[in-house]
Amino acid sequence: MTPAGRSKQHPTRRTFLARAAGAASAGAFHPALAQRAARRVVVIGGGFAGATCARTLKRLDPRLVVTLVEPSTTYTACPFSNEVIGGIRELRDQEFTYDKLAGDGIELAKLAVTGIDPQARAVTTSEGTRISYERLVLTPGIDLRWDALPGYGAAAAERMPHAWKAGAQTDLLRRQLAAMEDGGLVVIAVPANPYRCPPGPYERASLIAHYLKMKKLRSKVIVLDAKDNFSKQKLFQQAWQQLYPGLLEWVPLSSGGKVTSVDPTTLTLATDFQTYKAAVANVIPPQKAGAIAEAAGVADRTGWCPIDPATFESTSQPMIHVVGDAAIAGAMPKSAFAANVQAKACAAAVTALLADATPTSPKLINTCYSLVAPDYGISVAGVYQPANGQLVEITGAGGISPLDAPASTRAAEASIADGWFRTLSAEVFG
Ligand SMILES: Cc1cc2nc3c(=O)[nH]c(=O)nc-3n(C[C@H](O)[C@H](O)[C@H](O)COP(=O)(O)OP(=O)(O)OC[C@H]3O[C@@H](n4cnc5c(N)ncnc54)[C@H](O)[C@@H]3O)c2cc1C
Repeated sequence: MTPAGRSKQHPTRRTFLARAAGAASAGAFHPALAQRAARRVVVIGGGFAGATCARTLKRLDPRLVVTLVEPSTTYTACPFSNEVIGGIRELRDQEFTYDKLAGDGIELAKLAVTGIDPQARAVTTSEGTRISYERLVLTPGIDLRWDALPGYGAAAAERMPHAWKAGAQTDLLRRQLAAMEDGGLVVIAVPANPYRCPPGPYERASLIAHYLKMKKLRSKVIVLDAKDNFSKQKLFQQAWQQLYPGLLEWVPLSSGGKVTSVDPTTLTLATDFQTYKAAVANVIPPQKAGAIAEAAGVADRTGWCPIDPATFESTSQPMIHVVGDAAIAGAMPKSAFAANVQAKACAAAVTALLADATPTSPKLINTCYSLVAPDYGISVAGVYQPANGQLVEITGAGGISPLDAPASTRAAEASIADGWFRTLSAEVFG
């Protein structure tokens, strides 16, 4: 057993793995023994959901052994990555480390989880070690469905970046835009719901249009959409009319917007109506929960993970909780804001369940900010609670930015969005 106090020292990889192996010696593993030996909660994934959950668990019950398993040493955040693509922010401003989490007494395993054994309550890591848990919190974010769009796959993404996981892909799309000749056509392919960050593609189109307005006035961005409606649609469209006339065109599903195949060698995107030849193609493919969710048996046929909305416990595997983008969170969108508040509610539920107490039913807030230009922000907020096995939106509790607001209101919202991201990242990683 690792005494909670001692874990404040940063364990080396070797000492950590030795402890982890001790907690679940292969072969003679017995869950009841592990329960007496250490109240260990394992968190898989160090994004907004996982890092928040690990920190909240430790804060709520410092005696818990909390192990965060995440293969990357640096987390690159998606919120505000559209600003990087639009050339008004640096990618390094999106990067965060886990050093402060280690200082909180959270055990960090810089590894990927490759298998989960729900019966034995143990996870297997990429180094072959096993870590036992009393409860497991799974927060692997999303994976892209490489088989969903004919012509599109991991190799095609090097020519037609998705930039839907921040990092190298964000940088690639930014560089492609910078290298594009004035007059080139930018095409963004947007999938049907559900996907990570519902307003994200429209914020991206806006900030690319802003870049074109500044640098390449003869160019244009076309959004090919697999749906007819989208988040904050009226606000976006009003802003596009005001700021980007002739620079940004949205083609909805009913006008032939759905992309049915792509060809990365010619940079063409086909719909049922016509073929578009892009100078820069940003293809955002359909998505699913991170692959480990399927391996754990917590994803359903949709590819996402059904959960109990009060505790975030999987409805198919007891003792495994799923939080963030990977979960089916009813009416809540897949956002960093939501991942953060869900993770706190989940941590409260996990600590209650470990103490044989009844978890309280949460009320969860989400706000999605979008930038249409650097000084033009809009937002939509909602409040959610469990009802009939789902997280449902409480009517009248949320709100949306007003249409026809003055420029000062839009500028204030842009500044609030910036403040929100700074506060969130400081809370989660700082
Ligand atoms: C362009 C864009 C803009 C966005 N803008 C906003 C915004 O303005 N506001 C907002 O609220 N949200 C925004 N989002 C959405 C937000 O980024 C996600 O909702 C959020 O990152 C979800 O957090 P998560 O922890 O569930 O997943 P992630 O942040 O993806 O974290 C998952 C982590 O799990 C790790 N992992 C995966 N598999 C394993 C494994 N097998 N073993 C160990 N670790 C594993 C990964 O390495 C990763 O670190 C945006 C998204 C995009 C794409």
